[in-house]
Formats: sequence, C-alpha cells, structure tokens
Amino acid sequence: MARYTGSVCRFCRRENLKLFLKGDRCYSDKCSFDRRSYPPGQHGERRRGKVSDYGIQLREKQKIKRMYGLSEKQFRLTFKKAERRKGVTGTNLLVFLERRLDNVVYRLGFVNSRNQGRQLVRHSLFLVNDKKVNIPSYLIKKGDVIEVREKSRNVQCISDAMDAVVRRGIPQWLDLEKENYKGVVKGFPVREDLTMPMQEQLVVELYSK
Ligand code: SF4
Repeated sequence: MARYTGSVCRFCRRENLKLFLKGDRCYSDKCSFDRRSYPPGQHGERRRGKVSDYGIQLREKQKIKRMYGLSEKQFRLTFKKAERRKGVTGTNLLVFLERRLDNVVYRLGFVNSRNQGRQLVRHSLFLVNDKKVNIPSYLIKKGDVIEVREKSRNVQCISDAMDAVVRRGIPQWLDLEKENYKGVVKGFPVREDLTMPMQEQLVVELYSK
C-alpha cells in the first residue's frame, strides 16, 4: 500500500493526542492540535461520541502505529515478532519499535522527528558500528555505536535537531557524545522509559481477536 503523504497533523487530531510528528513545529504555536483539538473532517467538531471496546482498541493501535510512522503491514509484522519473543507481548512490541534505527536517531537528537530520521537513514547519513546502514527498520543491539557520517555533520537539519534535543532529553538507555555526533546503546529500554501514553495491552487484545 502506498505511504500516506497528507498532513500528519490530522493523526494527532484524530487520536486526540500530540504525537510530535513534525519536530520543532510541535512545540510552537503553529501546532494544529493546539489550535483545533477536535477530529479532522467536515463534522469533526461534533464527532466524539461513545466508542465501543473494539473502537478503543483500534484507536490505540492506530495511535502507536502512527507515532512510530509504520504502515499496517510493518506494524503487524513487528507485533508477530513481539509475540514470538518470551515475555509480555505488549512490552516486547514497544521495545522492538524503540530499537528501530529511525527511532534511535530521533531519540539521540540527530533528527527532529522519526519521519525525518527515516528519510536521512535512507540517504545513508548515519553509521552503525562504522558501517553505513540505510534501512530505517534496522534493529539496534546493545553496545551499538550510532554516528552521523563526517561529511553529513554540516547538514542544517542535523545541527538544528541537535540544538533542540535538550528540550526532549536523551533516554537513559542511550548515551550521547554530542561533540562527536555519536551515540551508544547502553541497553534496551524498559517499559518505564517510555513515557508517552500508550496502552499496548489494547493492541494485543485487538490482534488476538
Ligand atoms: Fe501533532 Fe506536531 Fe502537528 Fe502538533 S504540529 S498536530 S504535535 S504533528
């Protein structure tokens, strides 16, 4: 299926939550959600009625999927992988999503959004353990070193993102050497590290039907 190319701000309005999909804009007074926090569409303002259990589960799945910028197929495959892993499936799912390279470069502050991370990873702007990796879904491992390639360090959006990272903070499972444009994966995140409101159990219930 083709990737959605419309305004991602619709997603925040649909999920009734700021998903921070547009970098700096999300923190400015241009944020569409801050200005119009009702669902998109012609009758959006009147549409927040009673929702069924299925509807709640569906919205939660859509929210998490959109937050990480995955298609339905990619999200379901990740879920299947999480199911096969030992432990709590919902937590496994979130950890797999966090380990994606496009997310890790975002978490390290090399880019302003996961979407931008995906684009720059595809353009080979980053090295993992000194090797070029251009696959956004690449799963990082403990001890991996992620670095902005030397010739890409002057790219404006990378400098802007690194200036703005203070606002978001670096999660405790990553270590950033800002002056060397380098990050180290200290370990995998635990559930408590993921502070966005996500009820992954609802996704498990939805896909178990
Ligand atoms: Fe969501 Fe960011 Fe758009 Fe605001 S600016 S609606 S937080 S994507």
